[in-house]
Amino acid sequence: MRVRNKPWASEFLAENRHIAIAQPSELKGKWQEFFGNSNPIHIEVGTGKGQFLTGMAKANPDINYLGIELFQSVMVIAVQKVIDAEVDNLKLLNVDAAVLTDIFEDGEVDRLYLNFSDPWPKKRHEKRRLTYKTFLSLYERLLVKGGEIHFKTDNQGLFEFSLRSFSEYGMLLTFVSLDLHQSDFEGNIMTEYEEKFSNKGQRIYRSEAKFQN
Ligand code: SAM
Repeated sequence: MRVRNKPWASEFLAENRHIAIAQPSELKGKWQEFFGNSNPIHIEVGTGKGQFLTGMAKANPDINYLGIELFQSVMVIAVQKVIDAEVDNLKLLNVDAAVLTDIFEDGEVDRLYLNFSDPWPKKRHEKRRLTYKTFLSLYERLLVKGGEIHFKTDNQGLFEFSLRSFSEYGMLLTFVSLDLHQSDFEGNIMTEYEEKFSNKGQRIYRSEAKFQN
């Protein structure tokens, strides 16, 4: 998701450093201390405009949420949503998923969400998919033992690739839905992309996969 460059984005993030954390690597190993509690840490990689995590943070006040988003121009919209929602258990980090191990100590994260990750459909770009094995090995390091990845997408190709990738990595698939909105899954919180695609009649795929370390 690329939105038009917003020249005021840096200034807006600088004014909201209580939500958009400036130097997240300085908090490596200290995230619970930062939140001031011992609640679990759940992260979403590729948060986009923040609808999912804002909804999750409101629904689950006993979980600390961190949203990871590459583009400032997108993250400003998520920051505004956190301000409007008045939640203090959700913070946002403007970083690339590739540097996650600089930000989290091994085993510091309890769960990881991937929602509507960019599909990178060309074979030569498969290493960029956020469910490629190199990303799984990063996630495995920062997640607790037996930590889970919860994944949603509208893209059948990415979903099939990801199920294979989880399985070939040795993860255990504990939930798979080929049509989430027609299933009996309860408590689903929709992302911006999920709303957009399901309004067009597209089905939504969802999985949960667990590291077996
Ligand atoms: N999760 C949101 C949703 O479901 O509405 C946004 C989906 S959008 C297709 C993918 C998002 O992932 C974009 O906002 C993009 O900037 C972000 N993203 C892609 N690669 C990333 C990376 N390596 N690190 C952090 N964010 C990334």
